[in-house]
Amino acid sequence: MAWIGLDLGGTKVYGVVVDKGAIRAEAKRRTPTEGGPEAIIDCMAGVVADLGGTKRVKAIGVGAPGLIDRKRGVLRHAPNLVAWLDESPLGPPLSTKAGAVPVVLANDVEAGVLGEHRLGVARGREHVIGIWLGTGVGGGLVVRGEMYRGGHGLAGEIGHTIVHPGGRKCACGGLGHLEAYAGRRSMEQRARDEAAAGRHTMLVDLAGAERMRSGIFARALEAGDPLAVELMDEAIEAVAITVGSFNTFLDLDMIVIGGGMGIRLGAYLAPRIDDQARSLMFVPNHPVQIAPAELGDAAGAAGAALLAAGAH
Ligand SMILES: [Zn+2]
Repeated sequence: MAWIGLDLGGTKVYGVVVDKGAIRAEAKRRTPTEGGPEAIIDCMAGVVADLGGTKRVKAIGVGAPGLIDRKRGVLRHAPNLVAWLDESPLGPPLSTKAGAVPVVLANDVEAGVLGEHRLGVARGREHVIGIWLGTGVGGGLVVRGEMYRGGHGLAGEIGHTIVHPGGRKCACGGLGHLEAYAGRRSMEQRARDEAAAGRHTMLVDLAGAERMRSGIFARALEAGDPLAVELMDEAIEAVAITVGSFNTFLDLDMIVIGGGMGIRLGAYLAPRIDDQARSLMFVPNHPVQIAPAELGDAAGAAGAALLAAGAH
């Protein structure tokens, strides 16, 4: 039997087939930005069809960017999915369109960290933190080889831990959170504010009125744009403070840097984070490894398939 995993993102739906512990097929389609939840669910069913359908598939796992009601299969509050409406069912209608196989919903970052832990750079490691640098900053914790969800299913919100007390305002309203320094949306806002105050930056030249994607940060960094370097240095420092403290507390085997920015810039970020984090750790030569994610866009979909396999 096989399992399908879908990573539902703001720009694309990425799908994989997982069978016998490996990724066997991949497919993707662009996420619709209009047409409501129905258009998005049709798109997901299309990716399932592109992957060969569900004849040999036992269940579908979906990593979704928002609050999830696992029991009812409802996706609530997904601000990065333009066409989604609050509180819309996702699991049951997708199941109906995909040959009536069961659908399991999961948080997209949890799925990504699980994918990297089982099939990616952290396979075989017992104690792992994943920091997902995307539009916001998410996290996942693996303890003794298992995902840790906490007492109320709320574990992993590493983006809202404090790195600078009283510091920059986070999208959640809190002050000095990691996400306010290392989340793509906060970094874009800061670049646009600086540009509006008269500072020239390639970041705004390249992005125009469009979203400042991680590829734009990568190009500006390569060209040595001073503001891009400054923003990235702040992000690196904030992540280093976070992982330095967490590693001192948790004694980890590996810290994985993933998410959209992590995939695009991981090779640049990971050694710099490693360098700074080590200087902040209680045991500076601690054996923990800080590594970029290696499955790229497939991590979230692979993890979603594995979660479905665990449930069915
Ligand atoms: Zn916050």
